[in-house]
Amino acid sequence: MKFFKWVLAILLIIIAIIIVRTFMHNPQTSAAIDVVTIDIDEDRASQHLSQAIQFATISPQDPAQRDHAVFEQFIQWAADTYPDVHREMSLQRLDDTLLFKWQGTDATLKPILVTGHYDVVPVIPGTEADWLHPPFSGAIADGVIWGRGALDDKSGVIAMLEASTHLIRDGFKPARSVYLSFGSDEEVGGENGARLVTEYLAAQGVQLAWSLDEGSFVLDDIFPGVDKLLAIINVAEKGTLNLEIVGKSAGGHSSIPPAKTAVGILAEAIVALQNSPLPGGMEGLSLEMLDTVSRHMPFVPKMMFANQWLFSGVLNHSLSQMPVTNAMLRTTTAPTMLSGSVKSNVLPIEAVAVVNFRVHPRDSLDDIVNHVSAAVASDAVEVRVPDASGKPASEVSDWHSDGFATVSTAVQQVYGDLVVAPGLMVAASDSRHYSKVADNAFRFNPFIVNADAMTGFHGTNEKIKVADFTQGIRSYIQIIKNGAQQ
Ligand SMILES: [Zn+2]
Repeated sequence: MKFFKWVLAILLIIIAIIIVRTFMHNPQTSAAIDVVTIDIDEDRASQHLSQAIQFATISPQDPAQRDHAVFEQFIQWAADTYPDVHREMSLQRLDDTLLFKWQGTDATLKPILVTGHYDVVPVIPGTEADWLHPPFSGAIADGVIWGRGALDDKSGVIAMLEASTHLIRDGFKPARSVYLSFGSDEEVGGENGARLVTEYLAAQGVQLAWSLDEGSFVLDDIFPGVDKLLAIINVAEKGTLNLEIVGKSAGGHSSIPPAKTAVGILAEAIVALQNSPLPGGMEGLSLEMLDTVSRHMPFVPKMMFANQWLFSGVLNHSLSQMPVTNAMLRTTTAPTMLSGSVKSNVLPIEAVAVVNFRVHPRDSLDDIVNHVSAAVASDAVEVRVPDASGKPASEVSDWHSDGFATVSTAVQQVYGDLVVAPGLMVAASDSRHYSKVADNAFRFNPFIVNADAMTGFHGTNEKIKVADFTQGIRSYIQIIKNGAQQ
């Protein structure tokens, strides 16, 4: 009897600890930030974004198919539409990429860079008719601006130009120099855009305090159970690595096959690889983000995040089951291309799978090669590293820095009570170039995005609400103003 009393007592203590910890897992309180009111001419700004979308500044995969004239037309349109920016700032053109400099009054302060890109991805042939409004119409209907680039990333570029115009007309003078860079080839790697800008800045001896590029957004209703808007400011981006997994076997005629052909050997290797994901879990950046967000979750998930001493195993397991959260926890594994024999009755000597890995900051490229080699180890399987295929993850920028606080304060001044957390970018951006000349590189667009809008990225029916676009302009006004003042 006494034994059961002890068990009961211990159980009650554990439950008490869990409950107390859950109730202590509250949002971190900081000084209240006053919301600013900024008058924006919504109609005029929307018209400008609409006009910008109508230039089909497509970055095709094949550079030979690039329509240079339309980039030239866009650049001319920007000069005509934003005379204040062109008068007040100096412009350095690098190929089709535009780098503006707004000279600050205090040369001892490191400059900042606010950047986006005005090239867009093509519309997949055959899907044009699926668009409610043609992709390059820039149609404005029912408070929504439609078209390719409405989110990625002409909204960013135009909002920065509108914000700069607003500040110039307000008589604002930056203390810190402000660079604005508008890339023309982000969608194909930024080699003739962001890379040239980065080299130009480096040659001028410029080291930026911070840069702000596209990335995450102000997320609306994306995390289940979190009612507040969530500004995820990405402080790092994943790298990428392609490996070839090769199954090998003797060739010959398919009428007398061995028990396993090269294809069967390869198939087993891929299954082994899928069953052996790279290690990962909540730590560092992903822990910081999930810890911050979980403070706004309903009781049960909040309880689990508050008591990781007990639930970390369950949490890591369930977060790994969902593709979006899994990508934040580890290097992901995606077999994407397959090849085997050239003819149906010829046994392949080699069957090859290309596997694309998105590299988490915790892993080096060598870590991945070693992990994969161990997972598929067999005399009949080879792991090949194609030349120059890999880029490691970026460095992780400091989310306790002044630059992060500047962007965070700006969005709170515009949106009021919202949650700000650092995040990890799972795709690639121009920031892998810009970060070479910046103490900290942030990746964030201050526009509200919900699950419906997400489908427009590189997809069909890309669009942005007029109200969300203008909130973005207000945010860039505050970001540039706060950033250039301190
Ligand atoms: Zn983009």
